[in-house]
Amino acid sequence: MRYVRVGVNGYGTIGKRVAWAVMKQPDMKLVGVIKTRPNWEALSAISRGISIYAPKERIKVFEDAGIKVSGSVEDLLSSIDVVVDATPAGTGVKYLKSYVRAGVKTVFQGGEPASIAPSFNPLYNYEKVLGRDRVRVVSCNTTGILRVLHGLMRVAELEVVRGVIIRRGADLKEVGKGPIEGLILKPVRPPSHHSEDVKRVIGDWLNILTYSVIAPTTLAHLHVMYVRFKERVRREDIIDSLKNTPRVIVAEGVEYPSSTAELRELARDLGRGGDIYEVVVWGDSVWVNNYEAGLAYMVHQESIVIPDNIDAIRALTKLAVRADESIRITDTSLGIKGWVK
Ligand code: NAD
Repeated sequence: MRYVRVGVNGYGTIGKRVAWAVMKQPDMKLVGVIKTRPNWEALSAISRGISIYAPKERIKVFEDAGIKVSGSVEDLLSSIDVVVDATPAGTGVKYLKSYVRAGVKTVFQGGEPASIAPSFNPLYNYEKVLGRDRVRVVSCNTTGILRVLHGLMRVAELEVVRGVIIRRGADLKEVGKGPIEGLILKPVRPPSHHSEDVKRVIGDWLNILTYSVIAPTTLAHLHVMYVRFKERVRREDIIDSLKNTPRVIVAEGVEYPSSTAELRELARDLGRGGDIYEVVVWGDSVWVNNYEAGLAYMVHQESIVIPDNIDAIRALTKLAVRADESIRITDTSLGIKGWVK
């Protein structure tokens, strides 16, 4: 089978999960990851047998800490086909020239400026970015909204979408970040950037507006969404369509937890290390009244964009020419939706 060689720049929350996911793909080979500091995350990479590459001037610092380095940034870039840039928001853009010079295709993350590359979501524009040099996988919240809207748009045409995004204040390891108390309405004046990013993928025609609230939690985001359709809709059609949307789960049937904490615990019980790649819609939250509908769902910020990064690699390298083909391979390898009853 043909495979592509992948490198990951930045082995943090997103980068390490992308690296682990690449290792599970039948058509990809992880050549290594770029680290700038010989910290505990470097140790985690080594323990998984992942090769570390570092900026030339930093290699000695790694060696002094007893961490083996396989080569420089340039060495890695010259031995891969695709780099997934998962450096801190706004840092990837500084690497752009190096990626172009090395002739590697690049998957950027949502923290980079939208102008860097076409904003990507495999449910909407996989075929449009086939063979391109770079894409930008949109943020975790934007990805969650896009998946849910994909399900809703198959029921009837949308007239209006309004949402409130309750965002986790920090990831678990971001010990210096807050708030540790209080809810922050940010920005105070809508729209938050999420609805703007959704339009970058779906199109400006969509009448969508989101508010965003930052909450003192590390576990997950929770969205409350309200939509108005152009025709009457039925609750069962919405549930059915969401159930049939890739990477969306409707939690119903068994008594599912109502909190983000218990859902993360469930993901740990299921042997996923607490990661939830799927948007989890609370079935009982789906409310319908003629043209209107409302629903609430959870987005696990650390892992939701991982399958989309894998699809992005396939699209850029034409490993799969159709979105459904790539989604099937990715989802099988990661066990996506495998836990739904
Ligand atoms: P992170 O801080 O957890 O990881 C970034 C990694 O890059 C760290 O290991 C850091 O040491 C390393 N790094 C720092 N400077 C570097 C440099 N100059 N060169 C190479 N590596 C460097 O960040 P993250 O949360 O994984 O975010 C990465 C990107 O993913 C951002 O664009 C972010 O907006 C986006 N994103 C984050 C989340 C999330 O919830 N964490 C969700 C979706 C998208």
